[in-house]
Amino acid sequence: MNRSRSSELRERALEVIPGGVNSPVRAFAAVGGEPVFLARGDGARVWDADGNEYVDFLSSWGPLILGHAPAVVLEAIQEAAALGTSFGASTEREVAFAELLTSLIPSLEKVRLVNSGTEATMSAIRLARGATGRAKVVKMEGGYHGHADGLLVRAGSGGETFGVPDSAGVAPGTASDTLTVPYNDPAAVAQLFDDVGGEIAAVIIEPVAGNMGVVPPAPGYLKALRDLTRRHGALLIFDEVITGLRLGLGGAQEKFGVLPDLTCLGKVIGGGLPVGAYGGKASVMDQISPDGPVYQAGTLSGNPLAVAAGLATVRHLVEQNPYGRLDELATRFKQGLEGIAGEAGVPIRINAVGSMFTMFFQQGPVTDLASAKASDADRFARYHGEMLSRGVFLAPSQFEAGFVGTAHAEADVDEALEAAREAFRAL
Ligand code: PLP
Repeated sequence: MNRSRSSELRERALEVIPGGVNSPVRAFAAVGGEPVFLARGDGARVWDADGNEYVDFLSSWGPLILGHAPAVVLEAIQEAAALGTSFGASTEREVAFAELLTSLIPSLEKVRLVNSGTEATMSAIRLARGATGRAKVVKMEGGYHGHADGLLVRAGSGGETFGVPDSAGVAPGTASDTLTVPYNDPAAVAQLFDDVGGEIAAVIIEPVAGNMGVVPPAPGYLKALRDLTRRHGALLIFDEVITGLRLGLGGAQEKFGVLPDLTCLGKVIGGGLPVGAYGGKASVMDQISPDGPVYQAGTLSGNPLAVAAGLATVRHLVEQNPYGRLDELATRFKQGLEGIAGEAGVPIRINAVGSMFTMFFQQGPVTDLASAKASDADRFARYHGEMLSRGVFLAPSQFEAGFVGTAHAEADVDEALEAAREAFRAL
């Protein structure tokens, strides 16, 4: 496959953009390949700068549940754009969008729009601190909640829970207010509450982890977190930036029947434009400025084009309710891959929840970051390259989710399975 134009663009990009990319994962560093520059998308397909065609399972890292360039979203954006691209004043569309989101997501009574998932989690944490008067936040190892300072934290060495920065430039003081525990380990959270419960403002969690690869919550885990936070007067924050409107109209909280105090949204609710949101109980949300003392703002928050795209996407999902079919498609992919890997004698474990899935190169089970890391990442890197050269676009890291959307047909999945059969032989 000729990707010379991508290579040329990369050379130019490296001169003027750090690492040649505007978000590090796009550099393909984890798979050792050269990044592909994309030029166009349509439905389940993308085309690169050299004109090569791929079946896309990256789905822009999750937002594109309706596929690339769906007519219903394009029309909404065009209609909105013709009326003005930004006002810095309130619009009717924002009200309609908030009404729709609060009607769908069970725990949402009020919602504030922002421009990204990072802004949503950062703001929700500030709100939790403001509402409780406490400083510490608990997150799970391997949970990713965007790149705000206090969330770029990993567990300290030697099983120590007090956070150390996971990035240069994060002040140790900031990181030390973030406590980390393994995912799916309610006893570790209970221990933290026993030790410093009076200082904990919130527990933030992806209710289905998507950023160590897909890891579902063990039965009873989310409920245990709900009980612990309630008992100790801390807030439970579900980061549903990936799972919101992806696992169903009511997100993971509806699927698993556990309601958080605050919910963070992003990705799907923006229909491919920059939208994030955070919301929850009115009594908590009323602590936000201008009604309350917790400040949070945004010049482009509720941007007309972004809200139009989000509104069109979510309305379409409500009309179509495609989730049963998406589950079936993901299951077809999972079972197909399991069969192919079995024939090839390659140990794999696929975690799939609804339309999100990860194939780990190990036998599993994969229940937390430590077990995810037991995967053979080098083998994944080779697999990724083999798939790419056969026209299948996967997330360029072992520890990411893949997505199917409404634009994927059974034939697209089967095409990817055929590529996988050859890729496994080449491994
Ligand atoms: N939360 C989760 C669960 C995510 O997966 C991401 C991004 O991948 C974020 C938050 C941050 O969102 P954004 O990249 O829009 O800032």
